[in-house]
Amino acid sequence: MAEEASGKVDMEKIVSLCQRRGYIFPSSEIYGGLSSCWDYGPLGVELKRNIKEAWWRSVVQERDDMVGLDTSILMHPQTWVASGHLEQFTDPLVECKQCHLRWRADELKDNTCPSCGGEVTEPHLFNLMFKTFMGPVEEEANVVYLRPETAQGMFVNFQNILNTTRKRLPFGIAQIGKAFRNEITTGNFIFRSREFEQMEIEYFVKPGTDKEWFDYWLEERYNWYVNLGIKKENLQLRQHTKGELAHYAKKCYDIDYLFPMGWSELEGVANRGDFDLTQHASHSGKSLSYLDEETKQHIVPCVIEPSAGVDRSALAFLCDAYVEEPDKEEIRVLLRFHPTIAPVKVAVLPLSKRENLVELAKKVYADLRPCWMVQYDDTQSIGRRYRRQDEIGTPFCVTVDFQSLEDNQATIRERDSMNQIRVPIAELKKTLAAKLEGEDLFVLPPGGQIWKEEREEKSG
Ligand code: ATP
Repeated sequence: MAEEASGKVDMEKIVSLCQRRGYIFPSSEIYGGLSSCWDYGPLGVELKRNIKEAWWRSVVQERDDMVGLDTSILMHPQTWVASGHLEQFTDPLVECKQCHLRWRADELKDNTCPSCGGEVTEPHLFNLMFKTFMGPVEEEANVVYLRPETAQGMFVNFQNILNTTRKRLPFGIAQIGKAFRNEITTGNFIFRSREFEQMEIEYFVKPGTDKEWFDYWLEERYNWYVNLGIKKENLQLRQHTKGELAHYAKKCYDIDYLFPMGWSELEGVANRGDFDLTQHASHSGKSLSYLDEETKQHIVPCVIEPSAGVDRSALAFLCDAYVEEPDKEEIRVLLRFHPTIAPVKVAVLPLSKRENLVELAKKVYADLRPCWMVQYDDTQSIGRRYRRQDEIGTPFCVTVDFQSLEDNQATIRERDSMNQIRVPIAELKKTLAAKLEGEDLFVLPPGGQIWKEEREEKSG
């Protein structure tokens, strides 16, 4: 982890907002929590779903050279022998001789304990894979591992995909799923946990074309974050040094994000060469080669692997969207999520709890719900309800007021500008759809108008 981030959002504010509003809770909280495991609440689960869906759409749905896969978490133990994880997936562990806290040796500045300054022991290698037992007898023969990455499920299915999809090189496989690592040091909220989710691509190419495809995927993945609203100044590409390269990698870049604790990895893009297919072919005894129709030769494709974390992406989207703005005598906190990422797209708010208003607002709510995640809220003052929606990142609020009962119109308030327009209720769905796609608020539907009337936005 590099230098301290200055001017960046405070991690404590993000953690507190996440807990207060139902994004993320510590796992098993009523028992005091479980170190480095997290539960995603009603908003967090929507945030994660939106991230995963946006990723899937961009790397599978919109491409004809990619297919999806969902493989099991437990795999044949030989998988991890072949992949090198059993031998190499280790971190150097040191222990403080004074306070007995454990640390990753490569994360210490010198050989002293960051907690008490005591001397640390010589490092020994610690394997990060979680072990468990398959079947009722806890004996060595039945040891299996919780996968530390989703990648291997895609390599061992290479031949199945070739046989069933008729894909020709270059083509890729994409998978989203849980991974587990018994990390020595965790922390920084959901940045490093022991159970997390990955979004991984294995893209198979002809040897010799791997360098171009590497550059292609690095750019593609960088642009994915930018197109979903992450600020370019908070992203950087960092090449791994020779010493840092994983045992399988020919070349690797990290896409780093400026997290509250400094620049840290958001996604890794690696050129894995033909390491994985060659290893699995030799350990399984099954051919994992590809018949090149041009040359009539059997070749082993090279692999480009963009590997992203769902949880780290969620944290980056949260940090990047977090804004505090002066608002009269108060501070307005908002999450300026891109609409695709926002957990709730629209909130429907009747101006008061009067029966006829509530009835109309609930009709609007029922009408919009099939299209998006929509919230209905009729508690507290309208100002407070706007602030709550700002804080959870809802791009648009629809307000039904007394005039709506007469003119069948409602106002749409935009989160970032707080500008409002008034449109016929019959036009709401189409108008909101266009605004969520990025249309300017002041492009009006038939019968719509810019709304200047100042509503009481103050809290209280
Ligand atoms: P780091 O150097 O931070 O430990 P890594 O290089 O080991 O990460 P990879 O093996 O490249 O990570 O994993 C791919 C992606 O999976 C990472 O970019 C990250 O987004 C995610 N990831 C890896 N480990 C964790 C973890 N412990 N908690 C949350 N996400 C993780």
